[in-house]
Amino acid sequence: MVLWAGPISLSGYKIRGPFSAVPQRLKSLQLRLNSQLQRGLLSAVTMETTRRRAQQTSNGKASEHAQQSAQWGRAWEVDWFSLISVVALLIFAPFIVFYFVMACDQFQCSVSEPLLQLYYGDVTLLSIWARAPSFSWSAAKIYAVWVGFQVFLYLCVPDVTHKFIPGYVGGVQDGARTPAGLINKYEINGLQCWLITHALWFANARYFHWFSPTIIFDNWIPLMWCANLLGYAVSTFAFVKAYIFPTNPEDCKFTGNVFYNYMMGIEFNPRIGKWFDFKLFFNGRPGIVAWTLINLSYMSKQQELYGTVTNSMILVNILQGIYVLDFFWNEAWYLKTIDICHDHFGWYLGWGDCVWLPYLYTLQGLYLVYHPVQLSDASALAVLLLGLLGYYIFRSTNHQKDLFRRHDGSCTIWGRKPSFIECSYRSADGGLHRSKLLTSGFWGVARHFNYTGDLMGSLAYCAACGLGHILPYFYIVYMTILLVHRCVRDEHRCSSKYGKDWKRYTDAVPYRLIPGVF
Ligand code: NDP
Repeated sequence: MVLWAGPISLSGYKIRGPFSAVPQRLKSLQLRLNSQLQRGLLSAVTMETTRRRAQQTSNGKASEHAQQSAQWGRAWEVDWFSLISVVALLIFAPFIVFYFVMACDQFQCSVSEPLLQLYYGDVTLLSIWARAPSFSWSAAKIYAVWVGFQVFLYLCVPDVTHKFIPGYVGGVQDGARTPAGLINKYEINGLQCWLITHALWFANARYFHWFSPTIIFDNWIPLMWCANLLGYAVSTFAFVKAYIFPTNPEDCKFTGNVFYNYMMGIEFNPRIGKWFDFKLFFNGRPGIVAWTLINLSYMSKQQELYGTVTNSMILVNILQGIYVLDFFWNEAWYLKTIDICHDHFGWYLGWGDCVWLPYLYTLQGLYLVYHPVQLSDASALAVLLLGLLGYYIFRSTNHQKDLFRRHDGSCTIWGRKPSFIECSYRSADGGLHRSKLLTSGFWGVARHFNYTGDLMGSLAYCAACGLGHILPYFYIVYMTILLVHRCVRDEHRCSSKYGKDWKRYTDAVPYRLIPGVF
């Protein structure tokens, strides 16, 4: 039995403290005022509170696990390495995005050329900066209309598609239990938003001609400044909100480090009103709805520039289109993934969803505007098969876990009764919960075979661009780092949550991504 006690340490301490009679909002304000004092005491308080909470449980073993459970989720105490990484990311991530987009705009997508020309003195940082398109009010208007429209669709158009599309799960759905034991409700209407947005896009391109289908490409860098403004604004707002009016104080998580709090977030599920959920909105829209539109805009640009669209551009549009549609088709399932279930909302998600995702996940299409690659039939087929096989593994693995968890193990996986490991954990409110870890199907092959499928698909997008430049391969490098890091952090969390049961699971399924290798 394991005590899963992530956020109880601080909130549990506050609620039982001398200010327990004041309203919740004042408590969080008081929390802010006391934060300096608490920083020094935080780890002691954390351990003490966890210990006290553990002692309240009937099972004496709990206190032993409680000491470990302070490690749950994102860090409570930030080591130097994490701090330096966080500060470096906060400073350099916007420049990384700028570098890639600028390399396409000014250096024909060569990653090395800007550095070489800087080295030989052919250009200067100032001349590169001066040549980059600057902020424009017309781009700001486009961006404001875009985000405003997505907010409108998200908040004001309840889902009807689940009523007439068989098998689709939409409308109001429950999220996973939060660490404090709450279950939030979500309006799942992402597929509908995507369909309406794309129907309007095609209606415009075919009939209305309000704007050019190349509008996104034509304003790409000015739009990037707007996306940055929104990304920083929303992250800063979420940061301040967590101190002043958190949606759910029990689910807030503070460390003693302001940079870490800003980057990794404090609030778990910040909301405005009953339905505007920051995580669902910024994770799902506007970035992911835009992904396919951005690719369509690149395709239109190729057509405009060269009078033809290459098979590589079609492949990128199709494979990434499947991935995006899959995301919206399974949006209710997505509520149970790490982003929504375990990550707090900070700059990492806020800025990442506004800037990193739309700008770096679409680099292949951007590259193909500058380098229209026409693959041989055999290469195109190989890329298509790799992409589809990756998608199949990614989707089937996710589906197996979902099926298994929804039916509490009463289902068949690969035609047989599934094998699994029984485990238990405690939530912050002290409640004991049971869970099961699947060890058959793809989950018996490796502990994160869904990531392996995702990586195969990612490689296919890059391979569609041929071998002329490394820029389109940034995606597979990034996804490998992201998913390997995600494996490690998820397993760290699961190990704290399930304790010895997790060890039994890793003994049964020893590899993470590739059997026999890693
Ligand atoms: P998973 O869907 O693998 O979820 C991990 C969680 O599943 C664990 O925390 C644990 O949660 C539970 N779990 C772990 N092992 C088992 C098991 N054997 N049986 C049952 N449950 C288990 O991870 P993600 O949420 O990270 O990813 C979801 C998908 O999204 C993946 O396919 C990934 O590739 C994709 N993704 C894509 C990204 C992109 O940018 N394109 C970014 C991130 C993810 P619990 O506490 O409930 O036990």
